[in-house]
Amino acid sequence: MTAADYLPSTPRPSLQELSTAAHGCQGCDLYKHATQTVFGEGATRAEVMLVGEQPGDREDLEGEPFVGPAGRLLDQALERAGIDRDRAYVTNAVKHFKWEARGKRRIHRPPNKYEIGACKPWLQAELLAVEPKLVIAMGGTAARALLERDVKIMTERGQVVRNGHRPPVAITVHPSSILRSRDDEERRVAMEAFVEDLRHALSEAGRDTGNTDD
Ligand code: SF4
Repeated sequence: MTAADYLPSTPRPSLQELSTAAHGCQGCDLYKHATQTVFGEGATRAEVMLVGEQPGDREDLEGEPFVGPAGRLLDQALERAGIDRDRAYVTNAVKHFKWEARGKRRIHRPPNKYEIGACKPWLQAELLAVEPKLVIAMGGTAARALLERDVKIMTERGQVVRNGHRPPVAITVHPSSILRSRDDEERRVAMEAFVEDLRHALSEAGRDTGNTDD
């Protein structure tokens, strides 16, 4: 069983219909230990879709993507790159929080290939519904789900991959990697590089559409 078994039967479901259906998804085992499905959010016809890995502890409790510390950092980076989050669509490759208990804390565990594949129908349906001009894959899980191959983030970051009729996919790090910096200087440098990846992705997408105002 995968998420495909829970997709609405209508040919082109709306984001609202998809979100409602995803809240009942049992397409893999991750729903068993998470609080709720965390579906994507944002503008219905967003030009930019940002894809992360999976909801974190805060997102799992609040039911919204990127509302925890990584989300705050993402907000800052988007603002600096000139991307209005209210006009973007933000989601994750996997819609349930995978974690393990360490004392009283819930520690993030990366989803495996099976879980990423099982959840992919939701991501594909979001892409069809939103029709973004640019997709930004943040981190290895998102890049793997979107490009269907292994991606070495630190060597491929900054690249914008064009693949036939699909929207181009820009590769960058997940914002949580910036939070793991060892000191302020490392964090500053990591943030600069992240913002630069976002700016570059935007300018490449503008080149594709002939719109360089972005
Ligand atoms: S992680 Fe995805 S496929 Fe698995 S139960 Fe959640 S929504 Fe369904």
